[in-house]
Amino acid sequence: MSHAPGNAHYDLVVLGAGASGLMCAAVAGARGLRVLVLEKTRQAGRKILLSGGGRCNFTNRDVGPEHYLCRNPHFVKSALSRYTPWDFLALVERHGIPYHEREHGRLFCDRSARDIVRMLLAECADAGVEIRTRAPAVEVHAGPPHQVVTPAGMVTCDALAVATGGCSFPTTGTTGFGLDLARQLGLPVQPPRPGLVPLTLEGRALERIRDLSGIALKATVRVGDHAFTENLLFTHRGLSGPAVLQASSYWRPGEPVAIDLFPGMDLEALLDAQRRTHPRRMLQTLLARHLTRRVARCWCSHWVEDQPLGQMGQAAVRQVVSACQSWTVWPAGTEGYGAAEVTVGGVDTDAVSSKTLACHDHPGIHFIGETLDVTGQLGGYNFQWAWASGHAAGSLVGA
Ligand SMILES: Cc1cc2nc3c(=O)[nH]c(=O)nc-3n(C[C@H](O)[C@H](O)[C@H](O)COP(=O)(O)OP(=O)(O)OC[C@H]3O[C@@H](n4cnc5c(N)ncnc54)[C@H](O)[C@@H]3O)c2cc1C
Repeated sequence: MSHAPGNAHYDLVVLGAGASGLMCAAVAGARGLRVLVLEKTRQAGRKILLSGGGRCNFTNRDVGPEHYLCRNPHFVKSALSRYTPWDFLALVERHGIPYHEREHGRLFCDRSARDIVRMLLAECADAGVEIRTRAPAVEVHAGPPHQVVTPAGMVTCDALAVATGGCSFPTTGTTGFGLDLARQLGLPVQPPRPGLVPLTLEGRALERIRDLSGIALKATVRVGDHAFTENLLFTHRGLSGPAVLQASSYWRPGEPVAIDLFPGMDLEALLDAQRRTHPRRMLQTLLARHLTRRVARCWCSHWVEDQPLGQMGQAAVRQVVSACQSWTVWPAGTEGYGAAEVTVGGVDTDAVSSKTLACHDHPGIHFIGETLDVTGQLGGYNFQWAWASGHAAGSLVGA
């Protein structure tokens, strides 16, 4: 990677060497365009390296618009249909990267996320893309030609791809530059907020579960009409785990979160049957079979009365069912951008073409990846959006 200062003109300048930026640059470069990528940090693809616990959940076998939050739910269809998970998988296989599938169709590297970054850098190198690291875009003046000011000088270009990500995980370089630029260009921006983020509790709600920190169990976590059945993790500040992260993207301050600790089970029927077959068995013993001993003890201390099953009346049964299958919490907030995997909100999709990702008002300026108001659920959907939107812009920029 070179860091050549001075003025130069490019067909395309990509701001940000993350997932969408590298894909866009490689595709445009392969079409013979002269492409420069400017990356603020010292290393390309830093967020990719952290992703999926270091193994990068790079896509999902089942990708559709229903896996995305976007004010216009149809917007993602065009790019996703032109670059599918199978296209990315073909690239991964061409580079000989071993991978495996986990639950819910999630695909991960066998070895390390480093494989994905190496692959993208190799694609860029093959396509003659120039990548400058430690080269933040400081200012952009819309053209054409567009001018990008960096501390080392100015570059100009016919087309610009803004791939600077959202506001989450600022340690990886993403601090909302693209959203500020969009506002400067007069584009509407859906207010950003942290997504795929742990939820915090306060006061009595937190006090009651504090001793459970570190325990994970399967649960259905519901916010409004959206429900996710995966692991829930009790933390020392509230709730996390995949089910909670998923729900967090849909949560708004002040809203309740309803939790079913016996997902897919008819707890009332189970209690009724056990009242007859095991009348002397204690409620806590029964709950512990499904919830772990500590969680059962906690529930019997705070929500329901431990007693022999045979002594439980119908009202007591209903109270247990409600406490365990409709446990409702009102989160105090989230752990914020520092812990959020994604940013919900971003450049309003009404302002850009779903085909080229170029702004209607600035045809040579494309917004891709997480800069846009497109947020995937947990499970490889965010990377698939980064690949697909990067590919869409890279294949049509300047055409
Ligand atoms: C811990 C963690 C784990 C994740 N795991 C997964 C996963 O397993 N699967 C999945 O699908 N998604 C995952 N995600 C989400 C996924 O990483 C992002 O959605 C995706 O990286 C977004 O791609 P992007 O290209 O839009 O932005 P990014 O990949 O965030 O890249 C943006 C780049 O722009 C650079 N930049 C910012 N400002 C400037 C500037 N002014 N000038 C130049 N460069 C700039 C940044 O330094 C950064 O390199 C995870 C996120 C996090 C934080």
